[in-house]
Amino acid sequence: MDMVKFLDLEKINAGYASGIEKAINRVLNSGWYLKGKETENFEQAYADFIGTKYAVACGNGLDALTLIFMAYIEMGVMKPGDEVIVPANTYIASILAVSRAGLKPVLVEPNKVTLQIDDSKIEEKISPLTKAIMIVNLYGQNAFSDKIGEICKQYGLKLIEDNAQAHGAVYKGTRTGALGDAAGHSFYPGKNLGALGDAGAVTTNDKILAETVKALGNYGSEKKYVFNMKGLNSRIDEIQAAVLNEKLKTLDSDNKRRREIAKRYFEGIDNREIKLPGVSLEEDNVFHIFPIFSKNRDRLREFLKENGIETIIHYPIPPHKQIAYREWNDFSFPVTEQIHREELSLPISPVMTDSEVEEVISVLNSFRPA
Ligand SMILES: *Cc1c(COP(=O)(O)O)cnc(C)c1O
Repeated sequence: MDMVKFLDLEKINAGYASGIEKAINRVLNSGWYLKGKETENFEQAYADFIGTKYAVACGNGLDALTLIFMAYIEMGVMKPGDEVIVPANTYIASILAVSRAGLKPVLVEPNKVTLQIDDSKIEEKISPLTKAIMIVNLYGQNAFSDKIGEICKQYGLKLIEDNAQAHGAVYKGTRTGALGDAAGHSFYPGKNLGALGDAGAVTTNDKILAETVKALGNYGSEKKYVFNMKGLNSRIDEIQAAVLNEKLKTLDSDNKRRREIAKRYFEGIDNREIKLPGVSLEEDNVFHIFPIFSKNRDRLREFLKENGIETIIHYPIPPHKQIAYREWNDFSFPVTEQIHREELSLPISPVMTDSEVEEVISVLNSFRPA
C-alpha cells in the first residue's frame, strides 16, 4: 500500500484541472489582474454561500481578521488598548490579528470535550475594556452557542468568527461566518476551500463595516489617490478569485465526504490508547481536521509513520508558550496545554479513498505503546 498522505493537494486540485485551467486562461487573456470581474463574482458567490449581505475578499485569513478589527477602530466602535476575548487553543493567527490591530487578546480555555472556547469561562474574563468575543470554529466545527450570543447581547460585545477552518459548516440553519457581526475566512491552499496560493475574505451584514474593510485593504482608499485611513495592501488576485469560484461549486459535497470519513473513523477506531474527539457528526462540522488524542502521542505518530500514514500535530506549542507572546509564558491554561501535548490529526480529505480510511483505522487499532 502506498503512503496515506495527510492531505493530497495535488489530487484534490487535479479534480478541478479543466475548470481551473479555463479560469486561469480567462484571467491571463483579460489583461486585468486585480479588482476585476473575477473578484466581484467570487465575492457575490461567497456571500450567497455563507448567507451574508457582503463578502469582501482580501490577501489572506490573517489580514481578513485584522481588517475587521482595524475597521471597527476606524468606525469608533473600538479603540487601541480595548480587549478581545479569544480561545487559548487556536492557531496563532487568530490572536495575532487582535494584536496587530492594537487591541489586547484575552485568552479563555476551551471546553475539554468540544475543544471549542468554553462558554462558561467567558464572563469571568469580561472587563470594562472588553469590546468583542472572537470565536474560532476550530478543526471545522462550529464554536457558537446560544449562550455566547446571549453574553454578547448582555454586555454589548461584537461577535467575530474566525472561520478559516470551517467554510460550509451550518449551525441551526445558519452557516458559520454568518453567526456573528463579522467573520474572517482563509483560503490558504490546505483549507476546505483552498486557493492556489494565499487568499481570504471578510463576511458581514454590516454595510459600513464591509465598505471600511474594502477601503482598508486597498491602502485606506475608496477613491483613487485619496486616502482617508492608514490601510494595508491586501487584495485577492483575479486568478485566485477565479480558482475559488470553480472550487466553491463542490464545497458542500466535499464537506459531505469529509463527514462520511469522520463517521467511519468513529465507528472503526477502537484502541484504549486513543481518545476520539467529543465532536458532532452533523452539518455543524466540516472536519477540516480530525483530531485524536493520546498520552503516547509522539510514539503513536512514529508508529503511524512507520506504517505509511502521515499525520500532523495541530498544534505543537500553544500560543501562550510562544516566544512571540513571551509576556504570557508563565500563564497556565491546563486544558489548552493538554490538547497541545496529546493531539494528533489524522488524514482526512474529500479525495481519500475508502481503502485508505480502512488502512488508517487498522493501523491505529494495532498500536500498542510498550
Ligand atoms: C489558516 C488559519 C488562519 C490564517 O489564515 P491565512 O490565510 O493563513 O493567513 C487563521 N485562523 C485559523 C484558525 C486558521 O486555521
